[in-house]
Amino acid sequence: MIQSVIKFGGSSLAKPSNIIHAASIINNPPPNVLRQHVVVSAPGKRFPNDIKCTDLLISAHTAASNQDKALYDTIIHKIVSRFQELSLSLPFNTEIWDRAQNSNQKHSALSYALSRGEFFNAAVVAAALENYEIIDPADSFIIFDPHTQELDMTSTMQAIGMTFGQEITNGSGYIIPGFYGSISGNPLNIQTFSRGGSDITASLVAAALHDVSPSSTIVHENFTDVDGIYNADPNICRASIISKLGYQQCKRMALAGANVLHSDAIRPLEERAIPLWIRNVQPLGKNVEGKEIYTEVTATEVCSGNSDTSSSSIVLAVCGQEDCITIVCKNKVNEDMKLNLINELQEFLEQNDVNALVMKCTDDVSIEIKVDENKRNDVLSLLHGYIYR
Ligand code: ASP
Repeated sequence: MIQSVIKFGGSSLAKPSNIIHAASIINNPPPNVLRQHVVVSAPGKRFPNDIKCTDLLISAHTAASNQDKALYDTIIHKIVSRFQELSLSLPFNTEIWDRAQNSNQKHSALSYALSRGEFFNAAVVAAALENYEIIDPADSFIIFDPHTQELDMTSTMQAIGMTFGQEITNGSGYIIPGFYGSISGNPLNIQTFSRGGSDITASLVAAALHDVSPSSTIVHENFTDVDGIYNADPNICRASIISKLGYQQCKRMALAGANVLHSDAIRPLEERAIPLWIRNVQPLGKNVEGKEIYTEVTATEVCSGNSDTSSSSIVLAVCGQEDCITIVCKNKVNEDMKLNLINELQEFLEQNDVNALVMKCTDDVSIEIKVDENKRNDVLSLLHGYIYR
């Protein structure tokens, strides 16, 4: 049997229909696959201008810190309504407000507020399933160091192994809120990862399950609402999906501003060669009762093999962030190849009257181009068109 640690991102758990799909995905794995460890994010955006639940929680904490009770109540009302829409009546007490008043606990008060989106969404998903138990990472298994406030990797891996190491009866499993844990395993002292950190929780669980039983096959499936990882931002240019990419490339893209995975989620998987599938669901049509039927698609695979070879270019993706465009190559490229690429791109940009301030090799899979930040998206689109012409 293959054990899959599965994660749902915020936008795939934002609406009631998403929760039904998630439950059906969990309950209907492919043959030989068990989906017993489910990591969830907080409800994300339901439509383009919507506000993510985590952002609402940050605003609630800020209002509480500023002792603006009217604003606090308005924001809490929005959060309660979001969960009501997902059929959870929130036992929202004054905890976020109370904690924010305690000036000795500023940091933990913010972390506590931030973590509630995942905490309550775990209850939403668990209610849609039978026999899935919620396990709170702050109680026992995502452990942060009290001095550095960073993840204590050794304690965390041991604790996850102890929490989830035993075989689970078929048909049951765990719902795990992503994104947070606690300092020294003390549930009163919550600490979060940086934004997007539910990816890290999922990858740590997959890694620890692998360590408990190295001979078993562990995979990680990350369900999103997009078709996979694109070779550029599809809002900027005609980007296409990358079917397969290496861990290094995925990490480089994440660091260069691509909205893929959290960059810290990759190492635990890479060290153990645990494959990661970014998956989406696609509507197949309706069944006889008129209900939509969905099928799963693997949009992108992140693994230790070679990256996508469907285009002849050595470039895998073009990413942009602030004043920097990063060109990520499919495989490791030697100095000569990189210099050739730099020269070629420089010439192309000059011909198009673009002033690229600096071009440099950053590591053995990427080069960086510094540009005027206001023109970054135009340059990115131009380069993408040229590279994948
Ligand atoms: N809910 C958190 C965020 O919005 C963490 C996550 O979704 O992974 O960043």
